Amino acid sequence: MSLEDIYKDAIMDHYARPRGRGKLEHPVIVYHAHNPTCGDEIEVQANVEDGRIQDVRFSGHGCSISQASASMMTVAMKGKTLPEAKATLAKFLGMMRGEPGSYKELGEVQALQGVSRLPVRLKCATLAWHALEVGLSQHESGQSPRGPVHVLESKDL
Ligand code: ZN
Repeated sequence: MSLEDIYKDAIMDHYARPRGRGKLEHPVIVYHAHNPTCGDEIEVQANVEDGRIQDVRFSGHGCSISQASASMMTVAMKGKTLPEAKATLAKFLGMMRGEPGSYKELGEVQALQGVSRLPVRLKCATLAWHALEVGLSQHESGQSPRGPVHVLESKDL
């Protein structure tokens, strides 16, 4: 499968017109993730109110897949309860690991499924999602949101 094949309309659209790009004024979740293989840098910020992701944003730079995936993540996660968000994260990461199953509920995020066949691009597509996952677990364990920069190595997937 060529790289061109995975650049589906949804991915290119999110890259060209990213949703959820920016920062929040008082985020309770801040997680900065770096993908050294590709050079992608993404900071995910979120606010949680009444057990629900009230808002989620990303900033940073990197390849089109990393940025499009981060944009898709913000759309998929905004408004979800924490259990819903965790279920969606698990579903997405399962899809990216190539686990069999139906991923219809992920909607347009399924456009990233093709990336799972390109190991070198996998981390680009999962970076923002991993960042939110770690940020959520830090939030739930009451840790400070403003930790040092965290680097996701390949073994993290
Ligand atoms: Zn990348």
